[in-house]
Amino acid sequence: MRWDAQGAANERSACGHQDYSFWGFTMKMSKLGYFFEFLLFPPLVLLATLLAFRSSNPPQPAIWVLVYGIGLFGWTFIEYLLHRVLFHHAPVFSQIHERHHRSPLDLIGTPAWVSVLLGVITVAIPSWAAFGFGLATAATAGLVTGYLWYVFVHYATHYWRLRKNSYLYRARLRHARHHHSSNGGNFGVTTGVWDHVFGTALEGRTSKV
Ligand SMILES: [Zn+2]
Ligand SMILES: [Zn+2]
Repeated sequence: MRWDAQGAANERSACGHQDYSFWGFTMKMSKLGYFFEFLLFPPLVLLATLLAFRSSNPPQPAIWVLVYGIGLFGWTFIEYLLHRVLFHHAPVFSQIHERHHRSPLDLIGTPAWVSVLLGVITVAIPSWAAFGFGLATAATAGLVTGYLWYVFVHYATHYWRLRKNSYLYRARLRHARHHHSSNGGNFGVTTGVWDHVFGTALEGRTSKV
């Protein structure tokens, strides 16, 4: 299928200009801005993990890996909830997300400093308080890996030519159905598992790919 680039053109001609900025938080971005999170998150998480393992009270590696896995899987549920509830119903977020639905080929993302700040406030500090520093690095690393995987998969579904029946190809089909049905279903980008759990999976075939 083809993503609807016409929406962007229509919007430009209707408004004369485009303003993707909401209080400076999220906007149409350059490619470097869009992917800056990939340069910022991994070194920070790696550094924190190294500090944890070099501390006087290092985490047990097996438990660290287990918590990392739980964080990674936990991300898929957060991704589903964020997309279904926040991006489609919350003020501001839904307006920004609607622009992505109208202009799916524009790079509309979250500035890296905002997502790092949000990650520290909503994930790193609470999990540090709950599990201690060592396992907080595991939970944070798992969630961050899941988040970056989501950003990458979402980008690939919109921009890449994908090999038929590959994981990314199936993700593209799933996400294309979401775009075509607006907020009807298929909110999961990296996996359709939560759409099946909560009954929002959109079945059927998209013939033109
Ligand atoms: Zn999309
Ligand atoms: Zn959506």
